[in-house]
Amino acid sequence: MPELPEVETVRRGLAPAMEGARVDKVEVRHRGLRWPIARDFEKRVEGKTVDGLGRRAKYLTADLSSGDVLVMHLGMSGSFRIGKDAKPGVYYHEKSKSTAHDHVVFHMSNGQTITYNDPRRFGSMKLVPRSNIDQEPLLRGLGPEPLGNAFDAAMLAQACAGKKTSLKAALLDQRVVAGLGNIYVCEALFRARLSPKRRASTIADRAGRPNERAEVLVTAVKAVLNDAIKAGGSSLRDHRRTDGSLGDFQHTFLVYDREGKPCPAGCKGTVKRIVQAGRSTFYCPSCQK
Ligand code: ZN
Repeated sequence: MPELPEVETVRRGLAPAMEGARVDKVEVRHRGLRWPIARDFEKRVEGKTVDGLGRRAKYLTADLSSGDVLVMHLGMSGSFRIGKDAKPGVYYHEKSKSTAHDHVVFHMSNGQTITYNDPRRFGSMKLVPRSNIDQEPLLRGLGPEPLGNAFDAAMLAQACAGKKTSLKAALLDQRVVAGLGNIYVCEALFRARLSPKRRASTIADRAGRPNERAEVLVTAVKAVLNDAIKAGGSSLRDHRRTDGSLGDFQHTFLVYDREGKPCPAGCKGTVKRIVQAGRSTFYCPSCQK
C-alpha cells in the first residue's frame, strides 16, 4: 500500500506531463476499480485542461478547467506510466507488464500518454466538483498534512491528549494526521526513540499541551517523510516512479522489516517485531522508551 512519500513521488513524476495540458482523449478500458468508473467520466474529462496536480494524504487531485477535481487513489497495486507511445509492447515496468490491467489511458494535448494500470483493482478515480470537495467522503475528516505547518507539536499533543491508544495507533489514525502508514510510523518512532507501545496521551500534559516527546516526534515524522520523498519513496511490492524506476528508501530503513538485526543506534539492542492491531511493528525495545 503506497504511503505519502510514494504518492508524492508519483505526483512529482506526473506533474510535468499533465499540468497545463488538455486531455484530448481518455480511454477507459476497464471500469472495474474499487468503485466502477462513472459512465460520464469521459465526457467530463475530455477537452478539459489540468490546471494543477496536487495531493491530499494518499490521494492525487487533478484540478480540471471545468471545475471538477479528479480524485485518484493507487489502492494496493496501482501505478501510472508515462509514454508518448501507449501501444501494447512498450512496457516501463514489471508490474504493468500486462496491458490487460491498463484501466485508463489519458492522451494529453502535449503528446504525452499517461496510463493507469492496476492488477488488483483497489485503486479509484472519481470526479468531484470543486465546490463539493469539503463534503467528499474520501477526504472529509482527514487530519492535517504531516509536512504542512498545521502539523506541529501543539496540534499533535492536542489530538493525543487523553487517548488510551498506543502512540503507533494514534499516528496511523488518519483523523490525527493524514497519509502516514505502517512503514513511516515505525521509522519515525525509532528516530524519536519513542516506543510504539507508549500511550499516546504521554506526549501531552493534562491540559493537552505538548511536552518534549511531542516536539521530537513531530520533527522525526517530517524528517522521515522528507528523506523518503528525496529517495523516490520505498519500493516494497508495487511502488514505481512514473518512469518505471524503483524508489530507494527501502534501502535505508532503520527498523522496518529488520527483525533480529542489531539496533542501528548502536545501543546493543536488537530490532524486534510485534503485532499491533493486526500489523507488524518493528522497533528497538532497548532504546525506544
Ligand atoms: Zn536501540
